[in-house]
Amino acid sequence: MWRSLLLRRKTKIGGPISGDRSNVKVGIPKVLNIWSTHRFWIGFLKALGIPAKNIVFSSDTSEEQYREFGKGRIGMDSCYPVKCMAGHIGELLVTKNLDVILLPMIYSLPSFLKGHVMDTLSCTRVPMGVENIKAGFLKEEDEFEKRGVRLVTPFVSFAEPHLLPQQLYEPLKDVLNVTYEEVERAVKKGLEELKRFDQKMRKKTREILEWCAQNNHPCILILARPYHMDPGIGHEIDVEFQSLGYPVVWCQYLPIDEDLMEWLFGPDIEAGLIKSPFDISDVWASSYSSNTNEIIWAAKFASRFPWITAVVRLSSYECGMDQPTYTPTQRIVESSGTLYFKFGDLDETRPSGSIRIRVETIDYYVRKYSPQIIERKLKRLRAEKNPFRELTYSPSERSG
Ligand code: SF4
Repeated sequence: MWRSLLLRRKTKIGGPISGDRSNVKVGIPKVLNIWSTHRFWIGFLKALGIPAKNIVFSSDTSEEQYREFGKGRIGMDSCYPVKCMAGHIGELLVTKNLDVILLPMIYSLPSFLKGHVMDTLSCTRVPMGVENIKAGFLKEEDEFEKRGVRLVTPFVSFAEPHLLPQQLYEPLKDVLNVTYEEVERAVKKGLEELKRFDQKMRKKTREILEWCAQNNHPCILILARPYHMDPGIGHEIDVEFQSLGYPVVWCQYLPIDEDLMEWLFGPDIEAGLIKSPFDISDVWASSYSSNTNEIIWAAKFASRFPWITAVVRLSSYECGMDQPTYTPTQRIVESSGTLYFKFGDLDETRPSGSIRIRVETIDYYVRKYSPQIIERKLKRLRAEKNPFRELTYSPSERSG
């Protein structure tokens, strides 16, 4: 009798949860590399029987969120995106009535560049930040235990997906009362869902680029880390450009179709400069960091793709990882005459007025120089390999 009661319902100090997990509520702080792996976590938890409505993400980052829920919880000087984690955890803890907070320590990332670069690791502050911020919620009393919430912080290596079942089973087995086989199946589902989402986003980006080709319209590429998509981290600079009529694409979801890769990178491969379209060793030797590698690759893409006429680089306050990449990315982008603009040291204090003035200045340059940039970049590529050729023919060429 006692045992079945225990298994039917979790205890508020964190006893096991039964095989029926339909009432379990899990919160995930929407921070750092959760922005590029969130589909995995949704697919994974759903496959374990947790309904989508019970998977709760924290709100977008904001000054209020940090002030209200995170202040005083940080024990070290940190970059802004790590610092924000305290507000996200505190918000979930205080306002969402959760059973579990899942805060993965993401050691490495899934990346389309895997096999072409040295590694696909997260920035060391991403997994380490979890321990640091967690300590802030334990220093006076255990805030998780006080509220009957189990905090689970699995160490995960997306670059070695065969390790994921074990890495997730160990910390979750008692909390969610799961078997290894269940976790193994759920990991598979999560990875499938992440892949589907990635393909869908790349397809959407290709459609945007096709539209630009068809209309000979300039497009802006945002060169940033995935969490700059958070309005509180990236300050919605992309939205400012969209409101001026520019299609905006993010470096994480550029299309990687064979025809496009052949058009943009074929000549470099033939010249022996690179081994494949995803090889960045010609411009970046120490290719260990996944997000950095993708930023560098996207800079190469942008410097070649004709209708991306401007690149906007975003970087957060105290980001040590971005520092060494500023000059290389700028050089890569500008090598083809593409415009390059940087918004650095972004944090909560950046006034929106100053961003708007800067965006208006950039708009002036993009409008003025885009026609020449498109023409010049088109001339550098092989017309017969252009996958958008049909779309970009003038009406007279078509009839002729
Ligand atoms: S890459 Fe930069 S912003 Fe991101 S966690 Fe590392 S130091 Fe912070």
